[in-house]
Amino acid sequence: MIASSSRIVLDSVARHAGVTLAAPEGIVADDDIHCGACGVAIPCGGRFVVLRPDAGSFTDWQYLAVHGAPGGEFAVCPSCATLFTKAFQVYQTRAAAAVYSAEGAWMLSFDAERRWFLLTPPEPPFVAYIATTMGQHVAWRAPITTDKNLIRLAVGRTLLTINRPLLLEASDICRDLADAIRQEIKDTQGKAINLKPDHPFARLDRKMEDPEHGMIPPRFREWMRKTGRTNELAFLDGLGEGELWGLSVLNKAKHEDPIKTCIKDRLAAKRGE
Ligand SMILES: [Zn+2]
Repeated sequence: MIASSSRIVLDSVARHAGVTLAAPEGIVADDDIHCGACGVAIPCGGRFVVLRPDAGSFTDWQYLAVHGAPGGEFAVCPSCATLFTKAFQVYQTRAAAAVYSAEGAWMLSFDAERRWFLLTPPEPPFVAYIATTMGQHVAWRAPITTDKNLIRLAVGRTLLTINRPLLLEASDICRDLADAIRQEIKDTQGKAINLKPDHPFARLDRKMEDPEHGMIPPRFREWMRKTGRTNELAFLDGLGEGELWGLSVLNKAKHEDPIKTCIKDRLAAKRGE
């Protein structure tokens, strides 16, 4: 059976987060079908569950792998059915941002944890997602990463692809540029500039909502051209949404050491153990 994100997440949650979630009882398929949520094949004789999500609160119809009629019902694999249960939604309120693999389950709540993830990702295959609202259906939508240099990450409804070699090179370039800009302004104006983040962008917004997200301001563009940095400018202009998101973590104003947090430890800490 082809691995599904849902299966990877649930197996990892059970093994590494210490939380076992029971699948709802399904029925036996009398034909070969596909899971409506993750798209995995359910062979004739396999089990599936019919979901009828509340038409008023379920708004992810367009994200289903097998399109159902909005407000109607659809068949899902037992793993996806588990992700739709109240028990999983309760679990997700405590671990809304995480990466799951067969080897471990780690938090991605804080920038220091995301820094660990981007600099030293776990061995693939893994599934990584950051839920941006309560009860968000993101686990079954998050793509599986099979190459640690091409990280797939779901941030809410946005599915990012992060080319890690590009990100790391961009991070170094941004840091050098920020240093050069600070030095230039100090030399020419005799005063320090208020350029706190280690990058020349107007904004790097981790929610990717700010209109200036990923834009290099005209004054810095002009300066880069004048100082022979056109290659760097073209490189940064060519970055995708995934690398820009990565830069918002790696090149933020506050420097933090990477932290690797096992979900089990975070959940125990939250319970006060
Ligand atoms: Zn499924």
